[in-house]
Amino acid sequence: MQGKPAYSLRSFSPRCPLSYSPTTHHSFHDSPTHATILPMTPLAPGWRPIVGHDWAVRLLSNAVTHGRIGHAYLFTGPEQIGKMTLARTLAQALNCEAGPDERPCGHCRACRLIGEDKHPDVRVVVPEVSERGTASIKIDSIRRLQQDLSLSAYEGRFKVALLRRFDAANANAANAFLKTLEEPPTNVILLLTAADSDAVLPTINSRCRTVGLRPVPTEAIEELLMARHGVAAAEANLLAHVAEGRLGWAIRAHHDRALLQERGAQLETLQKALESSLVGRFALAETLARKADALPPLLRTWLSWWRDMALLAYGPRRDAAISNIDEVERLARLARQWPRQRVLASLQQTEMALRQLAQNANTRLVLENVLLTYPQP
Ligand SMILES: [Zn+2]
Repeated sequence: MQGKPAYSLRSFSPRCPLSYSPTTHHSFHDSPTHATILPMTPLAPGWRPIVGHDWAVRLLSNAVTHGRIGHAYLFTGPEQIGKMTLARTLAQALNCEAGPDERPCGHCRACRLIGEDKHPDVRVVVPEVSERGTASIKIDSIRRLQQDLSLSAYEGRFKVALLRRFDAANANAANAFLKTLEEPPTNVILLLTAADSDAVLPTINSRCRTVGLRPVPTEAIEELLMARHGVAAAEANLLAHVAEGRLGWAIRAHHDRALLQERGAQLETLQKALESSLVGRFALAETLARKADALPPLLRTWLSWWRDMALLAYGPRRDAAISNIDEVERLARLARQWPRQRVLASLQQTEMALRQLAQNANTRLVLENVLLTYPQP
């Protein structure tokens, strides 16, 4: 069986995500059709720093200019791709003190306060994170927000609620919020972000205009890091690949060395696991299980490594598609040695482990299943 894998590898690549399928007629997606039908108006200064989501910027900026803002938007896409930046910029455009064509200006009092999440009329709701690293938005946060939204704006034209990672809202919280979505107070705009529109209740989803963001192309991140942040070519290349379309991560990783060091340590642990016997792997699972909050980021790094491995095992080598570009020689060598099915199974098991951890499964058992699936030395 040297044929195609059971399902398309495209779905594992962050650069070719599963289609962000429109679920309502209000959905907007990264399509040339949308881009071409929009009339061209000059962009206000506050929109210009946003990189890689031109069509979404164009869409929102036009809605602001023509006074055709919806009362609720859902921004979807992978973590740190720029959903909150876009939502915050829209909040700035709504309350900016500059003239209508200059909103958002990026430097008036309203723009500055909103940029720092300190504006009295812009409420930000973020998930609480438990000791195990599980994020959730609870009903208390929604109730507090609703109370606040029922009061009129202090100084802005609009009251804006920014709800980060609404896919982390539990059922009670989501249902409570539904009331606000159905009958929003006047001059209230609701901006939600989520990894995926399918991760949000359909009743919530259908009441929002969805803006689906795609990963920023690797070359665009690389160019921006060099041009705007003065990053040296080699570092820009590595960061752009590892970022997997998350511009925000790439910029953060340039300023914070710890991020790449952490990734290095996570790949070393994987290497150690792959070289270990079964006994060694059980011991490693036990050690790793003690630091539950470190597991999701660890497994996400491993997942990206297996995704690269699967791309190499099932197709011709294309470095542009590889995330862990500094590992590509080793990946290519191992991809020739290991059976494809084993590579695919490792990828799937790692993906499943992340889901199981999010559902509070036993950490040690989850890790054992992962490590026992990985190919033996
Ligand atoms: Zn402004």
